[in-house]
Amino acid sequence: MAVIGIDLGTTNSLGAVWKEGEVCLIADGLGNRMVPSVVAIDEEGNILTGQAAREEELLHPERCASNFKRYMGTEKVYSLAGRKFTPEELSALILRRIRKDAEEYLGEEITEAVISVPAYFNNDQRYATKLAAELAGIYCERIINEPSAAALAARKADMEGEQLFLVFDFGGGTLDVSIVDCFEDIVEITAIAGDNHLGGTDFDQAIARAFCEENGVDWNCLEKSRQQALLFESRRCKEQLSARNEAMLEFCIGTDSYAMELTTNKIFQIGQRLFQRMKNVISRAVRDSGLGLEDITNVLLAGGSSRLPAVQMFLSRLFERDVMIGEEPDLLIARGLGVYTGIKERREEVKDLMMTDVCPFSLGTSTAGNAPGDPEKMCMMIERNSVLPCRAEMIFTTSGDYQDRILFKIYQGENYNPDANLKIGELGIPVVKAPKGKARVQVAFTYNINGILEVSAVDCYTKASVKTTVVSGYKQLSTQQIAAIKGQMEGMKYLPREQEERKAILAMGERLYAETVGDARRYVEQALGYYQHAWSTSSPIQIRKAGKRVMQMLLNVEVEQNYSVFEEFFDDSREE
Ligand code: ADP
Ligand code: MG
Repeated sequence: MAVIGIDLGTTNSLGAVWKEGEVCLIADGLGNRMVPSVVAIDEEGNILTGQAAREEELLHPERCASNFKRYMGTEKVYSLAGRKFTPEELSALILRRIRKDAEEYLGEEITEAVISVPAYFNNDQRYATKLAAELAGIYCERIINEPSAAALAARKADMEGEQLFLVFDFGGGTLDVSIVDCFEDIVEITAIAGDNHLGGTDFDQAIARAFCEENGVDWNCLEKSRQQALLFESRRCKEQLSARNEAMLEFCIGTDSYAMELTTNKIFQIGQRLFQRMKNVISRAVRDSGLGLEDITNVLLAGGSSRLPAVQMFLSRLFERDVMIGEEPDLLIARGLGVYTGIKERREEVKDLMMTDVCPFSLGTSTAGNAPGDPEKMCMMIERNSVLPCRAEMIFTTSGDYQDRILFKIYQGENYNPDANLKIGELGIPVVKAPKGKARVQVAFTYNINGILEVSAVDCYTKASVKTTVVSGYKQLSTQQIAAIKGQMEGMKYLPREQEERKAILAMGERLYAETVGDARRYVEQALGYYQHAWSTSSPIQIRKAGKRVMQMLLNVEVEQNYSVFEEFFDDSREE
């Protein structure tokens, strides 16, 4: 029974394990390692995940859900084809899919996973992630911060001396920057900073809006589905820039068709504000670690958006030298998780590896102002970038006469004013009635290696104590409740693997056929024909083989890469 690592992303998810002395990324039946984090219900009521669901979303958004990671731990409910799902249930479907892929790929049962979460995830979101794992039939003892997982991938066994890395993880919706100090077998995270509302989708938005502005179209007057379609095209056009210098964004509105040329320079122009925000995050991480930009040995790229040439150019300019490392940035976190599973299983090659992590934000409580009537102010208990696990204690007293209770409001954030921080919970404790300033309560904050905060308070006179793991009540489901949801989920209809793969390929192929003309369209047509032929042979091996090849080819058509590879493709597929 193996432990797998899962990068449960907003846009894409991946699985990894430690196998035969190295990290092995899990591939599905079509050879894809990235699973789009999308869930759909098809016309027959079957659950679809990954690429098949992503295709469905373009045609029938009302039966699909994506981006649900953003709502983990909240009360948001999704309705898909009349059926209700919580973000945890949707995430569970993605985790389940990855578990199944891994079981097939490795030929063994998977019962445990290490799952990565954004560093800024609070207790609710972390519990929600654990719950999702449980619903997917996986035990998740360890939650690990995404930038920390990336840091593990940064370390190379043959590295010499001390290396200071800046990990730049730029995904679909978030940017995380971490500073990592690697020396021999120790990987030490010294600072983390992030912006959880800055990612690839902001570029898609900026491109779509620039397109409208340039063509005299009012974005706000577009129907929701047209906005969605334009964003999809903007995203694709943006992604093409990593393979070529310019890309053309073409889009029809009503009966008119419009176009805009996209280049790296243009990205700089329309994304100016976004680049400024990137710079702020980098500065904060570097400053918090007590370093200067010149001390950084290398910048490690992670996340799909760091493929954008404009982003890489921006980083080179900022560091004034060529510091980038990153071949497959979207896989980096999963690679780190693979290393972590190796450590967890105490595999020979990595068993001595040690990683220290930090708390990504400050945690504290509010206290009364200096004089009656003054606004409350923050009292920081654990400061950001403290090494985990950490604990802080402080004595508090009453601010009113004969007060019989003290209520501690618990916040996460860096602001002086408590209301500007995120309130994550509260803890009330009864105290002996006494004149103000006489009662004494000792409060302790404990932040563990999974990033889960526990707060306790003890009355110093009566020794009575209270304690809370800071989490909103409604997410604390009982074992029976969890079993009931799990039962419901097991009762849903899932397509057999090869049927789901077939749906993905046909939908994607038909979409690309409609979207392309000329050579590209001819290749798509041939590829679909080749795949359908494989099905008519009813040989599972032929079907699998054709599926893999056709999927890779369609992915290439999607980013409009050099078509000569397709000539070769058909040359040797004819030989078989
Ligand atoms: P997440 O961590 O949010 O799940 P990923 O790391 O997979 O996301 O990144 C997804 C984002 O990366 C999307 O916004 C996507 O448009 C962007 N992306 C993927 N490939 C490229 C590329 N070649 N060029 C630019 N952006 C890309
Ligand atoms: Mg990610």
